[in-house]
Amino acid sequence: MKPEPRVVIKGQIFKWGEKSPYERSGDSVRGALELNSGKVKCHECGDWFSALGVHVAAKHDGVRAYTINHGLSVGTALISPRLSEHLSTTGGGAAFRRMWKDPVLRASQIERVKLRMKRDQYQPPKGSRWSTEERNRRRECRAQLLERLRVIAEDLRRSPRGAELPRAFVAKLVRSFGSYRKALTAGEMLPAPCHNEYPREVLIEMLRDFYVLNGRLPRDRDWKTGVLPDRKAYYRVFGSLPAAYEASGLLFRILSSNAAD
Ligand SMILES: [Zn+2]
Repeated sequence: MKPEPRVVIKGQIFKWGEKSPYERSGDSVRGALELNSGKVKCHECGDWFSALGVHVAAKHDGVRAYTINHGLSVGTALISPRLSEHLSTTGGGAAFRRMWKDPVLRASQIERVKLRMKRDQYQPPKGSRWSTEERNRRRECRAQLLERLRVIAEDLRRSPRGAELPRAFVAKLVRSFGSYRKALTAGEMLPAPCHNEYPREVLIEMLRDFYVLNGRLPRDRDWKTGVLPDRKAYYRVFGSLPAAYEASGLLFRILSSNAAD
């Protein structure tokens, strides 16, 4: 049986499903190292290596550019956990220096220093406070945020409005996508219908449904949960909430139940 794929995020090993879904980046996933049979996958050529950093320095644009281009945190070691463990238990520094004695690798190290001097040219993508790797660890990469948004939309059977979501969640979407609308577009979701798109009968129906389910009229915070359309929709059609309750036949019930008390 094929071993279950794993990912290395910030030096820790996770099962694939623990942090999924992922964004693609090159031949692998953004902000994580794929791990299989003790080796990690190169995002650029898709081959598997123990000392990925050595390979990247020799064959690609250098470690720093590589980590930034693929959403990894600067300073993340491009190395398989097994080799990392091995180096740390056998005096890794010396072993690593021996690897660098290879002339090809030495040349690539010079290249690396040159790249380090130009490091300011490599800026993380605008608006991202954290690398994708860090966001993967927090389960807040773009793919994961969209997944959460999609689950909420499925519950509501429509896209949520920004105001219906926790502020912190909206802030994360805005940071990652530029705006809430852009996040919806990225998730191939339509914006929620405008308030004036609800016809009178639907508004009444929803108000009655709410009353039947909860045995009371909506309170202030119920208008924010997405169970009911925005209050403004009711103002527009009925002029006021009491008028809407009256039109739904609810005001009479409230008054009569109060009288019975
Ligand atoms: Zn490669």
